[in-house]
Amino acid sequence: MVHRKPEINLHAIAVERIGNMHSLALATVGTDADLSREYITIMERISFRFDITLPATIKRSYCKACKKPYTSHDTVRLKKGLLEIRCSRCGNVRRIPYRISR
Ligand SMILES: [Zn+2]
Repeated sequence: MVHRKPEINLHAIAVERIGNMHSLALATVGTDADLSREYITIMERISFRFDITLPATIKRSYCKACKKPYTSHDTVRLKKGLLEIRCSRCGNVRRIPYRISR
């Protein structure tokens, strides 16, 4: 007789955890930026471990270099079809292309 592991949907739990970590990061960025960055790092590790691609809305909401979620302190500029975000913590510049829909 084959023993089977109880079926737990780890993928669904991972997706839920990613959402939790992201909202925790956004909630703490104003009071404790370092804690907030830790939440983002944990979120990235979960997505890597379970091979989950983070949705664009989450991926673009934090600095890739230092993991700090973007706030109103970060500079955003529109330049030649690019959205430029400068991180207020590490100065890393992120460029995201955009298109004007007509
Ligand atoms: Zn940064």
